Amino acid sequence: MILATGNEHKLAEMEELLPGVALHRLPPGFEMPPEDGDSFEANALIKARAARAATGEVAIADDSGIEVDDLGGAPGIYSARYAGVDAGDEANLAKLLREVDAADGDRRAAYVCAIALIDEDGVEHVFEARCEGRLLDERRGSGGFGYDPAFVPDDTGPEDGRTMAELSAAEKNAISHRGRAARLLGRHFGLVAGASP
Ligand code: IMP
Repeated sequence: MILATGNEHKLAEMEELLPGVALHRLPPGFEMPPEDGDSFEANALIKARAARAATGEVAIADDSGIEVDDLGGAPGIYSARYAGVDAGDEANLAKLLREVDAADGDRRAAYVCAIALIDEDGVEHVFEARCEGRLLDERRGSGGFGYDPAFVPDDTGPEDGRTMAELSAAEKNAISHRGRAARLLGRHFGLVAGASP
């Protein structure tokens, strides 16, 4: 099946999350349509439909981001370009932490991931999952990417306190929004029978 992403990191991560599934790259010259949906689900579907239309193959695509309660759910679908279209992870995180500091709330946040699948019959499916946690006012750790250095997931328990960037890749996959959504997809294919998301 085709994974509709230009991001090699995502391809490798998804292959790790879906053992036994051969994921193919988008064909050369493929142009990703604008992600102009109003939800993670809508944007994941836009990418999966485009890949399906271009290749005729079973296609999957994901869209993800972070929602912060104190900011009314922002940056949400704008997470990748929160500080501007060309902004990198560091600028996006710096802007988010400034705004969360200013909001002076409880710093609750959640990562969200939607994976869209267009199956061999052209039927659309969406698998969505969350990873709840809170934002620190400092950065810790060098793993992961994006907002990970300031995000402490609830799943590691109240005593742990490590950020996503301080977890191993396996620890992150076990609790992350993308890991959970991928396991829902895997369960749909019967790859991880009975596994809980
Ligand atoms: P997209 O799914 O490629 O559109 O990217 C979503 C954006 O959300 C990324 O650029 C990051 O800013 C953020 N994001 C999504 N997943 C994660 C994660 O696991 N850790 C940290 N940031 C993430």
